[in-house]
Amino acid sequence: MDLKQYVTTVEDWPKPGISFKDITTIMDNGEAYKYATDQIVEYAKEVQADIIVGPEARGFIIGCPVAYALGVGFAPVRKEGKLPREVIRAEYGLEYGKDVLTMHKDAVKPGQKVLIVDDLLATGGTIEATIKLVEELGGIVVGCAFLIELTYLEGRNKLDKYDICTLMQY
Ligand code: IMP
Repeated sequence: MDLKQYVTTVEDWPKPGISFKDITTIMDNGEAYKYATDQIVEYAKEVQADIIVGPEARGFIIGCPVAYALGVGFAPVRKEGKLPREVIRAEYGLEYGKDVLTMHKDAVKPGQKVLIVDDLLATGGTIEATIKLVEELGGIVVGCAFLIELTYLEGRNKLDKYDICTLMQY
């Protein structure tokens, strides 16, 4: 299946000059959503992941069905102030200023093999911060999977120590 035909490009959103890749048109098509999920499930089996970790909010949309299909757990990464129990935090740079991602302290157990999943790899900042959190908890990052990679932003360079799987490249 050519998944790219289900991605909608929205020009100048959320800001002028940004060409936004909208994956809701993959999700609202049962066959395309299943196909995309199945590809990541196959990758998760290859790397023998025993837990899936995904950053809010689109990381949940891709990561949760993968976890369900494998019968493994899913641990959410969220913006500060959203998780109710004790968290660890990692700061990461945005175009202007910085943001913070958090995980529950007990979300990943030491030695667990973690697959990180998100919808899109752009500069790699989100995933770099997510990796930091997982490793601080003692998890082993066995792979990172994305539906889309914006190759011109070279996010992959930040992740050169890790195995990366992307289903579509732009
Ligand atoms: P990065 O941290 O620069 O790699 O940005 C990746 C994060 O920003 C992901 O969590 C994406 O959901 C979001 N993102 C950035 N650009 C797009 C886009 O064009 N479409 C959908 N999400 C995007």
